[in-house]
Amino acid sequence: MAEPSVMDKLTSLAKRRGFIFQSSEIYGGTGSVWDYGPLGVELKRNVKERWWSTMVHQRDDVEGLDAAILMNPKVWEASGHVDGFTDPLVECGNCNRRFRADLPEVEGGQCPTCGTKDTFGEPRLFNLMFKTFMGPVEEDASVIYLRPETAQGSYVNFLNVQTSARQKIPFGIAQIGKAFRNEITPGNFIFRTREFEQMELQFFVEPGTDDEWFDYWMNARMEWHLSLGIRKEKLRFHEHGPDELAHYAKKAFDIEYEHPFGWTELEGIHNRTDFDLGRHQEFSGKRLEYIDAAAGKRFLPYVVETAVGVDRTVLVALVDAYTEEEVKGEERVLLKLAPSLAPLKAAVFPLVKKDGLPEIADKLYTDLRSRSIPSFYDAAGSIGRRYRRQDEAGTPWCITVDGQTSEDGTVTIRDRDTLEQVRVSAEAVPGWIQERLAAESST
Ligand code: ATP
Repeated sequence: MAEPSVMDKLTSLAKRRGFIFQSSEIYGGTGSVWDYGPLGVELKRNVKERWWSTMVHQRDDVEGLDAAILMNPKVWEASGHVDGFTDPLVECGNCNRRFRADLPEVEGGQCPTCGTKDTFGEPRLFNLMFKTFMGPVEEDASVIYLRPETAQGSYVNFLNVQTSARQKIPFGIAQIGKAFRNEITPGNFIFRTREFEQMELQFFVEPGTDDEWFDYWMNARMEWHLSLGIRKEKLRFHEHGPDELAHYAKKAFDIEYEHPFGWTELEGIHNRTDFDLGRHQEFSGKRLEYIDAAAGKRFLPYVVETAVGVDRTVLVALVDAYTEEEVKGEERVLLKLAPSLAPLKAAVFPLVKKDGLPEIADKLYTDLRSRSIPSFYDAAGSIGRRYRRQDEAGTPWCITVDGQTSEDGTVTIRDRDTLEQVRVSAEAVPGWIQERLAAESST
């Protein structure tokens, strides 16, 4: 039997440890929709927290927003999504499965499912927006869309945010939220799904300064991925050629990651010019210009957008962290997640169930939780098994309460990656962990 691929191993680890489950699994699943389990939801929250901290809390020129998923359908006419948010679709004449026409196998004329050659019909354009109805009547007038990106919520609220927060250009609006795309060919675990979450910044600048800001954000966003501990050699920029540029973009760069299935887009950085604000001004009939009273001018700002998927960042964090190694002749599987991303920060193991050790371990576990340090208590099984479970969960520090603890009050802290152990007084452990997490999150 062939050795399972890294993606297969990761998918099964993710299920076994409670990171990610198939949606509605007991009914056979739903096409490319995934649920985040107890560890997955923590990892996802940590990714969002790191983004929000860097993009909003550590800056004075970015404001947060949480716009609704449902918007007036005119928004999607103005944005160009009703007419233009399409992918070319072809159908196999043999098995009737449908695919994106730009998939490499399909371009070569072969059906990825049944293998038949040259039976595809002419490509037709398929709109990726999910449509539904608002209110009790299912008619054309009540059609509404699930948003395919969070960006439009930031554009239509541009003046609300600017005036209420008293911001001056240049400034940005940041959002984290769900988006939906009826992808023709989803797949590769959580890489391409139909329901996903985005972290998007719309940065409004004076025309003429947009190229400079574009370069600034390209570099800032690459730095952010590196600050999560992602390996530098696995990240690169890809510039969109004229045939790849979206209808709204003057210039676009992707940040790509090298997955086991190839280099793929992780984040997009786009110079959207004044396209979106201009279109909303035209379609709504409301002026959306910025008034610079001091300089006595008014203008429609240009927008530099940075758009990254939460789920794709989670996938990159998992793939990049997944490690198999041999320690003293035994195989060890671990997730070398940055401690700030790790779902559990610490695990507490009483070595034996006597001499008051379980009580000391209990107290330490309670102390950790009372400081909101997600932790795990494990008194079951051999110490080796307890370590192995935490290595697979990516827990950076395992704390052992042992014979010496009852003598001098110290415990050992084992580092997940180096396996080095240090002795620290049990009382000092929560502070020791908090210090390390704070140092990492301030980068
Ligand atoms: P792709 O070319 O991979 O379809 P895109 O260029 O359409 O992506 P954008 O519209 O720029 O993507 O969206 C911004 C980000 O949102 C992407 O970089 C990606 O991280 C995330 N994203 C987009 N579509 C999906 C999806 N179907 N599943 C998961 N994440 C997605």
